[in-house]
Amino acid sequence: MDSIIEDIRVRKILDSRGNPTLEVDVITWNGFGRAAAPSGASTGAREVVAFPDGGVDKIISEVEDIISSELIGMDAEDLNEIDLVLKEIDGTENLSHIGGNTTVAVSMATAKAAAASYNMPLYRFLGGNMPNEIPYPLGNMINGGAHAGKNAPDIQEFLVIPVGAENITEAVFTNINVHRKIRELIQAKDPSFTGGKGDEGGWAPNLTSEEALEIQVKACQSVTDETGVEVKPALDMAASEMWNGEAYVYQREGVNRSTGEQVDFVKEIIDNYGFYYIEDPIREDDFDGFAELTRKAGNKCLICGDDLYVTNAEILQEGINKKSANSIIIKPNQIGTLTDTYQTVELARNNKVVPVVSHRSGETTDETIAHLAVAWSCPIIKTGATGGERIAKLNELIRIEEEITDPAMGRIEKYR
Ligand code: PGA
Ligand code: ZN
Repeated sequence: MDSIIEDIRVRKILDSRGNPTLEVDVITWNGFGRAAAPSGASTGAREVVAFPDGGVDKIISEVEDIISSELIGMDAEDLNEIDLVLKEIDGTENLSHIGGNTTVAVSMATAKAAAASYNMPLYRFLGGNMPNEIPYPLGNMINGGAHAGKNAPDIQEFLVIPVGAENITEAVFTNINVHRKIRELIQAKDPSFTGGKGDEGGWAPNLTSEEALEIQVKACQSVTDETGVEVKPALDMAASEMWNGEAYVYQREGVNRSTGEQVDFVKEIIDNYGFYYIEDPIREDDFDGFAELTRKAGNKCLICGDDLYVTNAEILQEGINKKSANSIIIKPNQIGTLTDTYQTVELARNNKVVPVVSHRSGETTDETIAHLAVAWSCPIIKTGATGGERIAKLNELIRIEEEITDPAMGRIEKYR
């Protein structure tokens, strides 16, 4: 009774890139939940469609009433059923009729309303018996590729992970120390650096990928030495964006790499610099290329599929069969509902594939993914290091950690 849906409201709001996105309020008899959908720039080809033609305005003018009339009177606690109804309303495989961003915002707002109806935080409502694992934050330091201007590095994201941190506060402040150190090192290399940033709050310097890598690694080392908290370098290569049909094109450097050369290049980066995590090092439809790299370097580095898996359990199963990767990015709006997102997380966990809950490059201050990572015991969260839409999640993790008795940082060793 407490969680019966009484009303649903949909509105158009801004995302961090200045594009319109959807925010949904779900009001129950005894609760309220609000959630907003993010959006990607380097989206995977097999993601669900974010919005139908007509975008957010069409949802508000044509779809809001349909969703409301189906969902009002249902119990927000029955999230599986709600998600099924949303998929039925859409009626297509890839959610192209009402959009995966519509279904995901309704799904998340419903879960939050259900939790609030019972005076529970979302992580506890979804996580059952007192989850206590706090994810390590992967923080974005330097932006390139589709997330920055044309003189920035070809590699999309230079990240760090504070694997030596003992709690989330130490972890997020360690990341910020590295972010500051990197600015100093960029400035020393290029005195004309303006301090400009890319879409995810990393610096957007006029540097090659190799120069950026060196700065990143140096900053990790010096912050580790100064603070005693070990920080490791990581990357999101978003390799599908570089693939021209025949080779990986590093435009900035004027270098093309075949698949074999790309595998060797990434393996060298891992061996020479001690990289902890590399996301999408190979294009999204090359399960074998991924498997080759995982075979060669997966014992020392997490090889993570984002565009490869698009949070889709069926595609993940294919990758598990082929041993393509040992980690997966989890972005709820790639698949469209929380129920389907959870199914993918569970499949990953059961097969020792490390689930990394992630933001998108276009974000809002919605903090839901912080709760999802804790609820589902995902050992890593990828949500930037600075910027209001990124710190919304990080600061929420600080609050969550405070509420939990006996919190522990992500148990990545469980997956070895
Ligand atoms: P997106 O990718 O631009 O598709 O959101 C960003 C990421 O993987 O961090
Ligand atoms: Zn990615």
